[in-house]
Amino acid sequence: MQLIVQKFGGTSVGSLERIRDVAALVKKTSAHQQNIVVVSAMAGQTNKLVAMSGQLSARPLPEAYDMLLASGEQVSCALLAIALSEIGVKARPLLSFQIGIKTNDFFTNARIEHINGELLRKHVDEGFVPVVAGFQGVSEAGGHQRITTLGRGGSDTSAVALAVAARADRCDIYTDVDGVYTADPRIVPQARKIDRMSFDEMMELASLGAKVLHMRSVELAAKWGMPLRVLSTFHPDHTGSTFMKESDLLESPVVSSITSDSSECLLSARITENEARFPGRLFRPLADAGVNVDVIVKSSPDSHGHCTLSFTVPRAEGDRALALLAQYRPEKLLENMAKVSIVGIGMRTHSGVAAKMFEALERLEIPVHLITTSEIKVSVCIDESQREKAIRGLHHAFID
Ligand code: ASP
Ligand code: MG
Repeated sequence: MQLIVQKFGGTSVGSLERIRDVAALVKKTSAHQQNIVVVSAMAGQTNKLVAMSGQLSARPLPEAYDMLLASGEQVSCALLAIALSEIGVKARPLLSFQIGIKTNDFFTNARIEHINGELLRKHVDEGFVPVVAGFQGVSEAGGHQRITTLGRGGSDTSAVALAVAARADRCDIYTDVDGVYTADPRIVPQARKIDRMSFDEMMELASLGAKVLHMRSVELAAKWGMPLRVLSTFHPDHTGSTFMKESDLLESPVVSSITSDSSECLLSARITENEARFPGRLFRPLADAGVNVDVIVKSSPDSHGHCTLSFTVPRAEGDRALALLAQYRPEKLLENMAKVSIVGIGMRTHSGVAAKMFEALERLEIPVHLITTSEIKVSVCIDESQREKAIRGLHHAFID
């Protein structure tokens, strides 16, 4: 019999009614498969806890803060176990300490170091459905046990880590969308759901701002070759999108998906050639202030020996970044910037993809401010007002 990990996100367990629906779905699965269930906190719960702590302190005691945040998952875990047992499923609610989910002590963003998979499997072998609180672990640093959390959205990562530890056959993430699409269907009506996609493409999409899965969950699944599927709790009979090793995929689309991110702004500074040669000095103040820099492009020196350094930072941090770099007199080139990206593993072996992208944008008269590429993606920074037009045009050029 197959062993499947089923993870339910915040909207899936957002009310008692939904928890009952999830219980029914888990019961149905358990009739012909073994399953382990992982849950997020009820929708909005973690934000509420964050706000409560914020009213007491701007710098909450880290171990208390993680203990507080982890409580959201404890509630949904217990409620689901109650609902399951009410319909005759032998459920066993479990917190991290009971199955040895050990993490480091990096509070609010801890990494899982070890899970006692045998302890978890034992419950399954005894005929129970383990219901595990996601998003958390226990640190034993300094010989002192403390609850840790894995970073916002981290219950996806819990689910994959548990699947790996229990040697499950697959990890299914139930959420409020029914998979990954070739583009946002609200922008491109003819966008299609992608049935199968490589881990690499999904990691790229997650890093580009697609909010379907926690980035580290995809990394972990890729590392261990754990098949990972996203599907909708509201249409559990739809097949969702499955992420797998590239070698298990039949086709390698040149461009499989088009995505965008509107959270950044574009700054630029005219600096001397020498400053441009050692840009660490310029970026250090931003790093120390915790400002995340994304795209960076440096021009060659002009006839006055000056270079232009352009880079993007989160829009909310734009003014702070300008102030931190005041000595270089930077300016904001584009407050409302959008980064539009095409992603596809076939790009590795196909040439002319970038040219085709730029030509498509040119036909639409959309000027490109910055370009950045990886092996399997090309991103352009454009004006936010052109974002939807660009996505539609690129979908037409590569996918329609
Ligand atoms: N409840 C946590 C959060 O809201 C973890 C999760 O949902 O994955 O970030
Ligand atoms: Mg999530």
